[in-house]
Amino acid sequence: MWEWLIIILFILLVIIRNKKRGFFWKARNGSELSFKEFMKSWKEGVEGITPLQQTKTTLWSYPLVLGGILTGIVITILKKQWWLVLILSGSLPMTLIGLLSTWQKFKQQSKIYKTMKLLERLEQAKSRLEYEEMEGTHTYTMCQCKRKSSRSYNCVLCLKEEIEKIEKELEEGK
Ligand SMILES: [Zn+2]
Repeated sequence: MWEWLIIILFILLVIIRNKKRGFFWKARNGSELSFKEFMKSWKEGVEGITPLQQTKTTLWSYPLVLGGILTGIVITILKKQWWLVLILSGSLPMTLIGLLSTWQKFKQQSKIYKTMKLLERLEQAKSRLEYEEMEGTHTYTMCQCKRKSSRSYNCVLCLKEEIEKIEKELEEGK
């Protein structure tokens, strides 16, 4: 009983303390946030999670759920609690179907994510190549490949190879 009293007291203390401070929370940069701003930044943080990350998290929860159900089945069989065995066994197909569909979703999303990353890299390599091929003088330094000098990053030869490689990967990913 007294444990509850301590919890209630603790909550009351937190409320009083925050009331005094006008419901202010410290932001990461040390500036004070009002409750509204705090909720807004928290919401943005949650929304910042990509669908792929969400699916990954869901996928990882399945071994736990399945492990729990299977352990439950074994224990209830040993204890001869047949009605519990029945309920637990009944939930097994649904869980397996859930796992399968989450796995498929994960594979689809990973593919989309990979393609997006490749397209990003392609865009970057192309704009770098454009920069290398621009007219005009510039300070040149030897590229890592030691074949050609470049204005920045990599030389024209390396960039062309990179673009070719990415395009090939994109073609294979289709
Ligand atoms: Zn190079």
